[in-house]
Amino acid sequence: MGSQVFIGVGSNLGNRRVYYQKALDLMADLSQTAILRCSSLYETEPIGEAQNWYLNGVVELETALSPQQLLSCLQKIESALGRKRTKKWASRTIDLDILLFDKQMVNEEQLQIPHPEMHRRRFVLVPLSELAPQFVHPLLGSTVAELLAGLADDKQVLHFG
Ligand code: AMP
Repeated sequence: MGSQVFIGVGSNLGNRRVYYQKALDLMADLSQTAILRCSSLYETEPIGEAQNWYLNGVVELETALSPQQLLSCLQKIESALGRKRTKKWASRTIDLDILLFDKQMVNEEQLQIPHPEMHRRRFVLVPLSELAPQFVHPLLGSTVAELLAGLADDKQVLHFG
């Protein structure tokens, strides 16, 4: 049995649905990794300077990779899909974030798990609560549903299908 992992997926450049699907296909091809479930897609208001709205969703994986190995694989997928690393919050063809990795906590320079912003973001918690409302955030001790209910983020998250 591998680890249960939730990945946040986002795209706000080009044909967002195509990039989103390609990212899923490439994650499905990863060694020692299977996609278990996918949330609905949501169209979400961007944070930061004027940008296109995002398509966001969450994917549940089972993997035997380590968190660091998985991060490296996800970064290769981002590069393969044409993501240019520019400034923080810049538009991106695809963004893949490790949100949760079992109950593990990682605090390294290149990798923090749980993702340090996940509990503040409606565009993460809405799709994540479709898949795992009772999953307990290992640092905060609250369920995903509780985090969503107490959220201050007022950015719009619209069901997209
Ligand atoms: P971003 O531009 O938001 O995709 O941030 C990319 C950077 O976040 C990379 O340099 C990663 O090393 C770092 N990072 C830290 N924690 C995580 C995580 N849980 N998932 C993905 N990237 C992470």
